[in-house]
Amino acid sequence: MTLRINILRGQDQIGGSIIELSTETTRIILDAGANMGETRVHTFVPKIPGLFSGKPAYDAVFASHYHSDHMGLLRYVLPEIPIYMGRGAYDVACAMSAFKGRTLGFSPVLMKANVPVTVGDITVIPTPCDHSAYDSFMFLVKACGKTVLYSADFRSTGRMDFDKLLRDLPEVDALITEGTTLSRGPDFHEPSEKELEDFAVETLKDRKGPALVYLSAQNVERIVTAYNAARRTGRRFIMDELTAVVAEAAKLKIDGYVLRASHSLAELGEVVAASAGGGRHRTHRRKSGTFPAVSAGKAFSSNDFLLCVTPQSLINFRKVAQKTDFKDGVLFFARRETHMLQPAVSAFVALMESVGAIVPVLHTSGHADSNTIDRLIRDVRPSVIIPVHTELSNWFARYEDECQVIYECRDYEV
Ligand SMILES: [Zn+2]
Ligand SMILES: [Zn+2]
Repeated sequence: MTLRINILRGQDQIGGSIIELSTETTRIILDAGANMGETRVHTFVPKIPGLFSGKPAYDAVFASHYHSDHMGLLRYVLPEIPIYMGRGAYDVACAMSAFKGRTLGFSPVLMKANVPVTVGDITVIPTPCDHSAYDSFMFLVKACGKTVLYSADFRSTGRMDFDKLLRDLPEVDALITEGTTLSRGPDFHEPSEKELEDFAVETLKDRKGPALVYLSAQNVERIVTAYNAARRTGRRFIMDELTAVVAEAAKLKIDGYVLRASHSLAELGEVVAASAGGGRHRTHRRKSGTFPAVSAGKAFSSNDFLLCVTPQSLINFRKVAQKTDFKDGVLFFARRETHMLQPAVSAFVALMESVGAIVPVLHTSGHADSNTIDRLIRDVRPSVIIPVHTELSNWFARYEDECQVIYECRDYEV
């Protein structure tokens, strides 16, 4: 019996990951991602018979985490094929979809961390790792006496103990690993979430004005960073509706408020309730029930707050910003700086600067740097490395003396 690996898509590009593992009797897919930049409306579905069309030829699809470059094609998977996803990841993904008045478009079987799932003669162990998505997994796959580790997207800079993860991982025959940041050069090194938290605390200590943090709500670890910074500086932690919905779905133990912006601001006559995605979701939106609501009037009555804003609340908040004194205030920019290139975002940043706020960047990558990838490789000592999710797979050539590196993985027998 043999175990085979076939990278169907996403080996020499970042995103759009589709990985096939098969034995004589069982075929599974790890991740079914959309290409980067593709939207829910405009998604290219590759022709993979038995997965997206025709008679089902796969026994299961496993999703490592909820980023669309890993699960964006799940709703196109033939309905007969079971989809496996982490419970926490599913809860957050569902909540975000419901907020926008949508459904995910598939019903997964829910996996628990470290609890093996056996499909035919292949066993998959979802192994928790740190990433900018909540409840992310690496997959440890065992079949035919072989062990394969698929790193999916991971990093060592979150609050999860990376040393412990390395201690727990066995040596493997094959390592399928991401290399997202390798194209950013050898000096690419990112701060940890804890360092971001400390930086935010130091920044807030010196300032008495209002504080905002612009973040992506699906980056749950960043919500925690912002919350800890607020708590350590005695500020009220206020979330916009989407951040609160995600914090609730991720069961974060935080002591915060949710700003009922679409109601209270409309009552104040300050804003037409509209999200950045357009007003069409307004009537369907899921709301959080866990956190006490605070009206805009109350929220902004004093400056001792840290407010989370997301693209979804930017339009609402822009109206408030024009009426609030931001002297000595802060807007933490907690997303990748390239997001500043978006017209709505750059306009918001410019507005905040014009009313007196400073705009420090509060961001770190969700991906492993080269040092972290080295540590993973040295720890699991693979006989073969299969780079994926990278634009610089040649970086792995440095391992060619120690093991095989497969740059184009088509039906490789482990
Ligand atoms: Zn990815
Ligand atoms: Zn990801």
